Amino acid sequence: MEALDGNAIAGLLLDVFGAEMTTAVAICASCGARGPVAETLVYLEAPGTIVRCRTCTAVLMVLVEIRATTCVDVRGLEELSPMRAAP
Ligand SMILES: [Zn+2]
Repeated sequence: MEALDGNAIAGLLLDVFGAEMTTAVAICASCGARGPVAETLVYLEAPGTIVRCRTCTAVLMVLVEIRATTCVDVRGLEELSPMRAAP
C-alpha cells in the first residue's frame, strides 16, 4: 500500500485533537526520532488509519472510528506536542 503523509489526515486530527496537528512535533517512542506530524507515514487502512514513524516505521498512532467516535491510540508516541518545532 502506498504511504501518504500526515497532511492526508490533517482534517481528521483537527477533529480529534481540536487543534492543527500537522505542525505538532511527534517523538517516536521506539527510536526517538522527532518531527512534525506532517512528515509521518500515513496508511489509510479500513477500518482505521495507521500513522508510522518515517525513520523506523514503528506505529505511532492508530485512529479508528467506532460508531461516529474516533478512538486514538497514541502508545507509540513518546510525546506529541502541539507546538511548532523550534527553528
Ligand atoms: Zn521511530
